[in-house]
Parts: sequence; structure tokens; C-alpha cells
Amino acid sequence: MTVTVVNPATEEAIASLPSAGVEETDAAVARAAAALPAWRAVSPKDRGTLLRRLATLVEEHGEELARIESRNVGKPISGARGEVGMVADVFHFYAGAVDKRHGETIPVAGGIDMTFREPLGVVGLIVPWNFPLNITSWKLGPALACGNTVVLKPAELTPLSALRLAELTLEAGIPEGVFNVVVGKGSIVGRRLVEHPGVAKIGFTGSTEVGRGVMEGAAGTIKRVTLELGGKSANVIFADADLERAAAAAPYAVFDNAGQDCCARSRILVERTAYDRFAELLIEATRNVKVGDPESPDTEMGPLISAAHRETVASFVEGRPLFTGETPAGKGYWYPCTLVEASNDDRVAREEVFGPVAALIPFDDEADAIRIANDTPFGLSGSIWTENGARALRVARALETGVLSINSNSSVRVSTPFGGFKQSGFGRELGLHGLDGYSEVKNVYYSTEG
Ligand code: NAD
Repeated sequence: MTVTVVNPATEEAIASLPSAGVEETDAAVARAAAALPAWRAVSPKDRGTLLRRLATLVEEHGEELARIESRNVGKPISGARGEVGMVADVFHFYAGAVDKRHGETIPVAGGIDMTFREPLGVVGLIVPWNFPLNITSWKLGPALACGNTVVLKPAELTPLSALRLAELTLEAGIPEGVFNVVVGKGSIVGRRLVEHPGVAKIGFTGSTEVGRGVMEGAAGTIKRVTLELGGKSANVIFADADLERAAAAAPYAVFDNAGQDCCARSRILVERTAYDRFAELLIEATRNVKVGDPESPDTEMGPLISAAHRETVASFVEGRPLFTGETPAGKGYWYPCTLVEASNDDRVAREEVFGPVAALIPFDDEADAIRIANDTPFGLSGSIWTENGARALRVARALETGVLSINSNSSVRVSTPFGGFKQSGFGRELGLHGLDGYSEVKNVYYSTEG
């Protein structure tokens, strides 16, 4: 079996790779297990140095990696460059973190009690196609920093950047077997990693549906899991907000990466008294989103990942949208920026569209905004726009979501924790919190009596 990799902007095949099965997955786990004793014994300073070298190599190969990612995902080159920059920053961050995770001493009778942070062992990482290299780095950085070895399964649609990263890892001097990439189907390779008795933990990013299956499969071996799943985040705009600023920013909070973003603020909740004015400003701002050739430096939105995904996205738009943007003619899985008016009970407001479709929903007051924003099974991200600082913090505390921003739509940073509430998953990535998911606390009591 082979995996054919396609450029979504041209529909052309750009690579054809063998698709691994259970045997190849088991071989990769065996390589990672064999590499584990030596890797966990590398001194903290040397492990940090190796990760820093990897970060530097990612910087040096930044343009090459950005082009691979742009062609494989169809994402605009400017965005891809930013993402690769973040990948390097993530490795720099965890290079610096290796020797900054301290244990504790705990006062007890008759001796000394101390804690250690031990690596988990072989870790399986399963990632989606929307931010392939970025999401890989969020897991790989802390996993390696904590002394684990890794088997990564990239999404079938987007394996190319992970394969190049594996080469750079070796070039950085990270020993063979520490980082292994297996390209294949989720139902075969992913499932085998989830069930493999030699894999200690699964770091998973993907849909809530597949995440549920990962959790079930992991139960057989009581495997640790971190689940970064879907979202249906609210962008809450109060009438006292700077409406111009909020409206200018809102399209990019949904249409970035063509809406294929777990943090997409795809429910735009607007206080009724400001609704008409905001809608007018939002339409204007959405009209200005530059959709087109991902290779052009000015492009802000590219195509969707596949023809099948475009059909799914289209199924969410019923009736006449409030606004529909333009798309290039010809080949490519294009879908226009689309604004619809909705109630929070409509399918477009309840399910993750994962495409450039945003639902405008009016609310009456602060309590109503909180009620609507929380009326979803998801809880990943969100924004609050208001000039009233006390209200901003009140609402931030009331929202059942893991990552929020006030008067901004940016919630992903290298040094701050990222992850979901409710069915958006659990566990945190990035920042020092990211290390918690890749080590186990060991407690040792040492008697000083006799
Ligand atoms: P997906 O769930 O279909 O696939 C994710 C990964 O799981 C892929 O590598 C896939 O091959 C693998 N997989 C599929 N079936 C499997 C199985 N039975 N066992 C093990 N692995 C299996 O998701 P996708 O379509 O690639 O990505 C889109 C989804 O990812 C969206 O729901 C999005 O919200 C979510 N996402 C979440 C975050 C986050 O951090 N919370 C970030 C990005 C994307």
C-alpha cells in the first residue's frame, strides 16, 4: 500500500510513500525501546545541547520546511514561515527546560523524602494534518526533554515535514532510534500504537471522535493519554468593546488556516445593541481577506485540505449566507470565507466545521453571553472583547474553556499552557506545564535512623 501526498492548491500528487502496517509500527517501537536506556542516561546539559542544535537546524532550514508545509497543507507561505519559527522556538524552550525541573524534599519523620521526575519510556505521538510540524514539536520537545523516546504517526495527508524533521534530528546528533516516524493509516498504525503494550503514553491531537477511541484503546494497558481535541470556540463581543478593532481581527480568528484550526473562534457572539454595526464592520473586514495562491507572500487564506473535506464544510451552509467571499477559479480545494447568522442550536454552531464558516449569534447581556458560550460540548479556546476590565475578568473566569484571550484572538504561545476543558480534551501542552505529561513522579523515602 502507498500513501499519495497531494498539494491541495493544485490537486497534484507531490509524493508517494509506502504505507506502514502493524509490523513496521512494532519495529519502530522496538527501535525506540532499544534507544531508551542510553537516551535517558544522557546528562541534562547534553540533552539540552542536542535539543538546541535541533532548534538551530530548524531555523537554518526554515524556508525549506515552510515550503514543504505550505505545499502539503495548502497553507499560505507567510503563515507557514511563522509556524516553522514557532517550531524552532519550542525546541529552544524545551532545551532550556531540561535542567530546570526540580524535585522536592518533603518533611517526614525518621528520614528524608524526595521526588524525582522519571521519563515514561516509549511515547507514541499521533498528530493531525492542520498544523503538522507545529503540533509535532509541541509534543516532541517535552517528550525528548524528559528523556523519553518517540514514535510519531503524522496524518496520512501531511507526512512530509515530519519526515524531514526526523532527518534533522539525526543531523543534530540525537541518536538513531530516539525519534521514529511511521507513515500510515490511523486505523492501523495509530491504533497499534494506542494498543501496543510497549508504548507508555499517547500524545494525541485530532478530532474528539477519534480521541474517544484513543482513550478507549489506551484503557487496555492503562496507558497515559493527553488529548488535544476539537473546539467550537466563542468570540464574545460586548457593545462597549472597540468594535472596529474586534471586527478587523475577527475574520483571522476563523479564516486563518482556512478555518482548519482547533482554536477557530467560529461562533461570533455579539451583544444585540451592537449587532448591526458589528456585522457591517465584519463583512467589510472579511471582504478584505486575501484568498489565493499559497506561494504568494500576500495570501492570507489558501484552500481546504481535500475534496472530501470541502464537501463536509459545504454541508454546514444552509440557506443564504450573510456574506460569501471569492475564491480562485480552477484547480484546488477552495472554499470561500462565509458568514452566516445562526442560533446556538443550529448545526453550524454546535459542531466543529473546520472550514472558513463563521456563525454570528446575538446575545442580550453578560449572563446570556456566558450561557451561550458555555452551551457546547467543547471548551478549547475563545476571546472576550470589552473595555470594561472587571467584566473581562468576570467572563474569563466563567467561561468553561482552557485558553482565552481578552481584546485579542491570540492564545497560543511557546511559554504558556495550551489545552482544553470538557470534550476538547485534557492535559496541557507548551510552557512548563507541557513537561507534566511526559514524566512520572517518583517518591523515594530514605531512612536516616539506625
Ligand atoms: P483525526 O482525528 O481524523 O486524525 C488525527 C490523527 O489520528 C491522524 O494522524 C489520524 O491518522 C489518526 N487516527 C485516525 N484514526 C485513528 C485510530 N483509530 N487510532 C489512532 N489514531 C487514529 O483529525 P484530523 O482530521 O487529522 O484533524 C482535525 C481535528 O483535529 C479537528 O477536530 C481539530 O479540532 C483537531 N485539532 C485539535 C487541536 C488541539 O490542540 N486541540 C489542534 C489541531 C487539531
